[in-house]
Amino acid sequence: MKFFLPILLILYGCSSTTIKTESEVSRGQFLLLPEFMAMSMAESSYLEEIKKAENNNQLNQNTEQVERIKKIAFRLIDQVPFLRDGTEEWNWEINVQDSEEVNAYCMPGGKVMIYTGLIEKTYATDDEIAAVLGHEIAHALREHGRERMSTALVQQVGLIGFAVYIANHTDSRAISETAVQAAVLGSTLFFALPNSREQEREADKLGMELSARAGYNPVAAVSLWRKMDALSSAKVPEFLSTHPSNENRIADLTTHAKKINQIYLDNKR
Ligand SMILES: [Zn+2]
Repeated sequence: MKFFLPILLILYGCSSTTIKTESEVSRGQFLLLPEFMAMSMAESSYLEEIKKAENNNQLNQNTEQVERIKKIAFRLIDQVPFLRDGTEEWNWEINVQDSEEVNAYCMPGGKVMIYTGLIEKTYATDDEIAAVLGHEIAHALREHGRERMSTALVQQVGLIGFAVYIANHTDSRAISETAVQAAVLGSTLFFALPNSREQEREADKLGMELSARAGYNPVAAVSLWRKMDALSSAKVPEFLSTHPSNENRIADLTTHAKKINQIYLDNKR
């Protein structure tokens, strides 16, 4: 069985996350790591991040700010079934971490984190917060994290090593290592590689659509990235190192905002 696994995995790997969208997103994806494993590792990693932040008194310190972020996030999450069936069943979690870093992420399975650095340094409006969170949630809906984790794992252990790893872990339908090992592996894989340009383009489009459906102005993505650009002239924020912002991207965002403006007008509150 183990000899056939690499072949089976390659066949399995050439799949794609089904997204229902107005935004023309379709592309074969390299999803070698089974979804339940990506989610299980992400859950352990996220829990570790939460614990670390909590121990350093950096978790959800400003009640008013946390309430604001959660309200925006859950308005977006209310709309996720419009983009992908079943994702409303995910165990969504939203947390705010005190950090100078300008950053945010959403791990597989809907584990969202936003840093106070991003919220405060950009003086982000609600529409702009929705743009960031929508973009990150879109990465998770389209399983870019799982895709990057698959690539990172194959790069680290090779296809055979990967097959053996999966063979040793699939039977129990659970990751048998301790939670800490799973967390370390999850974080290592999740943060190992940046998103590709194509993944970024997809997250931009889907994230803007999610914002529009939640009644947030999708054009806020443009002002947000401009603010990020302005910040980067001083020192390149973490977020920009993985989210290169340039005139092409701004032009694409502007075009897409116009295209989906009717969705926003239909859902505006
Ligand atoms: Zn991104």
